[in-house]
Amino acid sequence: MHRCAGEPDDACAVRALPHGRRLRGRDRAELEEYIRPTGFYRNKATSLLGLGAALVERHDGEVPNKLDQLVKLPGVGRKTANVVLGEAFGLPGITVDTHFGRLVRRWGWTAEEDPVKVEFAVGDLFPRKDWTMLSQRVIWHGRRICHARKPACGACPLARDCPAFGEGPTDFDEAAALVKGDEREHLLALVSSS
Ligand code: SF4
Repeated sequence: MHRCAGEPDDACAVRALPHGRRLRGRDRAELEEYIRPTGFYRNKATSLLGLGAALVERHDGEVPNKLDQLVKLPGVGRKTANVVLGEAFGLPGITVDTHFGRLVRRWGWTAEEDPVKVEFAVGDLFPRKDWTMLSQRVIWHGRRICHARKPACGACPLARDCPAFGEGPTDFDEAAALVKGDEREHLLALVSSS
């Protein structure tokens, strides 16, 4: 069974939502087990079942591929809608979560705090075709290396080009201890060999 290991929560939810009709009929216990790795799985199961019912009632069981329709579904905000458009339909979207917002402000791409304004400001800087991949890369960089309080600058592959280099420890060993995730060893090998 797909366990969502190593995937963003939203991408995992996309995979768990192949079809509204199927979701509505899904046994609650099975659904909870399916999404347990994402955390808060009981609340999420309630939301997903409500979402499945809304998909059946409003969209004949299909997930719509329009932002304005997606954001009217229960529990679906603009961030999730953009993930769905990008991951499920291949339609470019910028996903502004806490990591994305923090990093693009840290890099000086925008000073905006409001997620929608961040989305539009960053969208002006990159070709539309790159939006989905850009979002994924920035979010994963924030999760693994460029943390909020102590970014791992000394073990960061972007260090040479980053205007915020030095906000975190610049010593390699100290910074390496801050790097997180399944790809940790691979990332550290990349940096130490460059
Ligand atoms: S050098 Fe530091 S601030 Fe810049 S991206 Fe890397 S971890 Fe973040």
